[in-house]
Amino acid sequence: MKKIAILGSTGSIGTQALDVIARDPESFRVSALSCAGSVDKLRAQIERFHPELVSVEKESDALQLRRDYPTLDVEFGPEGLVAIAESQYDMLLNSLSGMRGLEPTYRAAKRGRRIALANKETLVAGGAIVMAAAAENGAEIIPVDSEHSAIFQCLKGGEKREVRSLILTASGGPFRGYTYEQLKEVTAAQALKHPNWSMGKKVTIDSASMMNKGLEIIEAAWLFDMPEDRIEVVIHPQSMVHSMVRFTDGIVLAQLGKADMRLPISYALTYPSRCDKNGTVFFDIIREAGNLTFEKADEKTFRTMKLARQAFREGGSSPVAMNAANEVLVQLFLDGKIGFTDIQDNVEKMLCAMGKKPVPTLEDILAADAETRAMTLEAAGQKA
Ligand code: MG
Repeated sequence: MKKIAILGSTGSIGTQALDVIARDPESFRVSALSCAGSVDKLRAQIERFHPELVSVEKESDALQLRRDYPTLDVEFGPEGLVAIAESQYDMLLNSLSGMRGLEPTYRAAKRGRRIALANKETLVAGGAIVMAAAAENGAEIIPVDSEHSAIFQCLKGGEKREVRSLILTASGGPFRGYTYEQLKEVTAAQALKHPNWSMGKKVTIDSASMMNKGLEIIEAAWLFDMPEDRIEVVIHPQSMVHSMVRFTDGIVLAQLGKADMRLPISYALTYPSRCDKNGTVFFDIIREAGNLTFEKADEKTFRTMKLARQAFREGGSSPVAMNAANEVLVQLFLDGKIGFTDIQDNVEKMLCAMGKKPVPTLEDILAADAETRAMTLEAAGQKA
């Protein structure tokens, strides 16, 4: 019986993880859950999965939950997320969205824990400190992001020195083939309609702008210790091949399956074994895959991928700034305050304006993040 703690349990990955767990009550028990605003959803999860510890964003919600569930340990705020990361479990699933996922991942890595990581911003902003803490303390990081889960599995086909490059696939999102002029006019409602995947809002907008692939390049570079120029991106509109590894002998291994996040989630939760309770997601190769196609990514129109490569090469605070600016700009776009192309245009401006400085500690990273957020809001003419 594995004890699973879930950060972000009411979000897209969190609820799908609980689906996977509910199918196999003999293998899993839920020890902790956290949510931000969806307290009603969390209550339903508490009653169904009986965790020992939960965390919410607001103190007022925590006080009410303590009254309603006297035996439950209820924490709140960023400290609550850290309390979960440092609690007793066999695996921590970090499915938080954005930078607030960094500190809990770092704390769990410091304690040498096993982490199923769905929060890519953790590695984009804090890859250096998180991977160092994991290596020093024997923590294991199992990717949940579908591309990275695919690469993690394909890498079992050879030795590290036999890997020539990693190939990330990208669906291209809802605006594949658009010109920059066309991109200027798109709305949040259009951007939120991903052709293949059902995901949270932040990652869906990032997929439409291709920033998601930029973040994933950095995520892969840290997870698999690979320079960014050995991480390729190909557009694969059907989202059936989840990613590939190119070996030195010319052989390419690919991982295929349905575009269903419950697959990489269950792989991470049951790792190193494979789950045998995924019958409902049987992949019919003839009917579902049929003809698979691959094409070149348009990095001229979608400059986000180039910006991510540049930020990663610069290192230090550059990826922190890129990620912070992007998070703020995605929210402004969702709120209807800026246009879609303003996201990439302003990420580029902020990357230039913030300059690069060393960020050797968690505190340095959080300070660079806060500074960039304030500057990005100011540059976009918004109040903090
Ligand atoms: Mg992905």
